[in-house]
Amino acid sequence: MQRRDFLKGAGAGLAASTLAACAKKEGAAATGELPTIRWRLASSYPKSLDTIYGAAEVMAMRVEAITNGKFQIRVHAGGEIVPGLQVLDAVQQGTVECGHSASYYYVGKNMAFAFDCAVPFGLTARQQNAWMYQGGGLELTRELFKQYNVLNFPGGNTGVQMGGWFRKEIRSLADLNGLKMRIPGIGGQIMAKLGAVPQTLAGGDIYPALERGAIDAAEWVGPYDDEKLGFAKIAKHYYYPGWWEGGPQLSFYVNIDKWNGLPESYRQAFETACMEANVTMLAAYDTKNPQALKKLIADGVQLHAFPKDVMAAAQKIAFEIYDEEAGKNPVFKKIYEPWKAFREAELQWFQLAEAGYANFLFGK
Ligand code: CA
Repeated sequence: MQRRDFLKGAGAGLAASTLAACAKKEGAAATGELPTIRWRLASSYPKSLDTIYGAAEVMAMRVEAITNGKFQIRVHAGGEIVPGLQVLDAVQQGTVECGHSASYYYVGKNMAFAFDCAVPFGLTARQQNAWMYQGGGLELTRELFKQYNVLNFPGGNTGVQMGGWFRKEIRSLADLNGLKMRIPGIGGQIMAKLGAVPQTLAGGDIYPALERGAIDAAEWVGPYDDEKLGFAKIAKHYYYPGWWEGGPQLSFYVNIDKWNGLPESYRQAFETACMEANVTMLAAYDTKNPQALKKLIADGVQLHAFPKDVMAAAQKIAFEIYDEEAGKNPVFKKIYEPWKAFREAELQWFQLAEAGYANFLFGK
């Protein structure tokens, strides 16, 4: 009994001293004086892309709930404050405190930004999370973002995308010759080397271009988002997989000066809420895509896998592009080399239990 009382007393003492230490660290917290902070978040996306846009709202709502309503982040759709493709610049300059975007939009500044999102024949969503959270990816990409006065956090993933909509079937590599396709970024560069003519078009411009024959094919996201744009009416051949986006990660960006001004508990709330958004966005796609795919099939869409020669040639070109870039861009090289080693190790592991299980379970 005496011993128990002693332990109880020791426990209480420890708890009290821990609390005191916490209170000392966050003097304001002890007196309930944490500041009310209002931030603006610039999203790259329209509200119609509810799954991607919604990830920023998930994050903002959770931050507000954790901080008893004191840290408020208002989400603005692409174009409301800055154009969708200028979110990184807006966060860097402090026009907004934070943003939500896809880092491969900024490969024009440095191709290494793509590692924070997706590179063709890169990591799957699970492998991307492994690399970012446990495999050194967050540290490596943060060195790059720091040069832009921005702190990056993983903030969503679509999973493997679809390869897009084609007016005619692609039976072999030769069928890509002269094909005008809406496909941005490094995927577009690879398509060009395969003989196609890549185009960069914003989401709203794709349907009319495809309808009037200005382009022959277009990639977007996957069944849930593609179905809303109505591509099935004008291009019946729906290809998979989107080898240029095997697990594209969205990111939250925070201006480093603004971050440094946050109380520690608000930072913790922000980081935790980003992780929640990262998980729930992928969960939303994995739930909504099968339902949308069913509708598309009922509408007469024809599904095709890309021919193996197209995939093999594209992968070879992808790594030629990365090797060439690493030869002239030290920032790219510094991320690429450990990323490539991580990818190799992941592939060796995933080809066993994961692929064995998936091939049996998903195979027809
Ligand atoms: Ca895409």
